[in-house]
Amino acid sequence: MAIYFISDIHLEPGRPALAQGFANYLKDLAAKGDASQLYILGDFFEVWMGDDFVNPFVDQVKAALKALSDTETDIFLMHGNRDFLLGEDFCRDAGCTLLQDPSVIQLGEEKVLLMHGDSLCTEDVEYMKIRQVFRSEAWQKDFLSKSIEERIAFARQVRSESQSGQEMKSAEIMDVTQSEVERELTAHNVNIMIHGHTHRPATHQLDNGKTRYVLGDWSDKNGWEIRWDENSGIKLREFAL
Ligand code: MN
Repeated sequence: MAIYFISDIHLEPGRPALAQGFANYLKDLAAKGDASQLYILGDFFEVWMGDDFVNPFVDQVKAALKALSDTETDIFLMHGNRDFLLGEDFCRDAGCTLLQDPSVIQLGEEKVLLMHGDSLCTEDVEYMKIRQVFRSEAWQKDFLSKSIEERIAFARQVRSESQSGQEMKSAEIMDVTQSEVERELTAHNVNIMIHGHTHRPATHQLDNGKTRYVLGDWSDKNGWEIRWDENSGIKLREFAL
């Protein structure tokens, strides 16, 4: 059996080709039948306003995930900086389990640290401040208590205010801070880390023999995944959708 990792799909209703490509990817995984687990490491959706904000697009994505989870595959979902409001209701409908950022899992003999990756970009001080606010329980509770119209208006306002908009955008422009990578690897006592977010897919062999794998973001034409199995180990690849 194999374990798969993807991130930064950035699904949105305005990109039907991408949504179709992703649906096909899940169907292919089910057909291959070798996936014991699928980890989605954040920014699955381009934006998420709350689990109560449903529409046909969201229903289709839920159904596609549910179909795979109804096979032998367990699906785990981690928040990204764009979809950090994904909640238990979505996960229940989609047959997924929410996964804390960061989490440590076991791949064969090796412990592996999973993260979205935005928390590693510590040099973006303004973003780190906003992140702390958006991830607080109080802010989220308040936001989710607003009407859908108010939430949409808020999101629009954040995008239009040049300063804040810049900060949200720069979250992906900034790369990780090397010392923060080292700190997390040491803190979790692991030699391997997998994350997304930066849209800089790569396998980084660090000086201390540790490895940092970075997943890529998906386009209408291509996706990125990491596949692990006992014999081949961890393999990062890009593929056509
Ligand atoms: Mn991100």
